[in-house]
Amino acid sequence: MGTMGRKIIGMDVDELLRLLNAAYASEWLAYHQYWLGAKVIKGPMKDAVVAELTLHATEELNHATLLVGRIIQLGGAPVTDPRRWFELSPCAYDAPDDPYVAVLLAQNIAGEQCAIDTYKKLMDATKDKDMVTYNIALTILEQEVEHEEDLQSLKEDLDLMVSRGNT
Ligand code: FE
Ligand code: FE
Ligand code: MG
Repeated sequence: MGTMGRKIIGMDVDELLRLLNAAYASEWLAYHQYWLGAKVIKGPMKDAVVAELTLHATEELNHATLLVGRIIQLGGAPVTDPRRWFELSPCAYDAPDDPYVAVLLAQNIAGEQCAIDTYKKLMDATKDKDMVTYNIALTILEQEVEHEEDLQSLKEDLDLMVSRGNT
């Protein structure tokens, strides 16, 4: 822990660590949801969607890396037990039990929308109080916004293909 680095934070550090651990838990669940979804997926445009889901999985894991780095830097304790991920995460875990492309896309779009909300709130909480965490939250938010649009574009193409294919 860096003492001066911690001292300059203009908010309750325990509350900040709680928000960071919640986001950290959420990233691991998102990682798994994407990673397994990419393995079990079935249906039209499968190859394009697998490529995107697989890339997003690695990007979610990288978000977890950024968050755990900040938690440790602040002298906090990252949640160590995966069983606590569900209770801490602000976002739901949607198991890829139905492997149809459209279902997986819808589940992951909902996940991204929750992630966007989470990082917007983390930015609001740290604005003018903790520039370092604010900057990390912005970096992640930019990628979550990109993820949502990637998935919604794929969904749009899939919907077009299905509707045109039926006429
Ligand atoms: Fe993420
Ligand atoms: Fe994402
Ligand atoms: Mg992408």
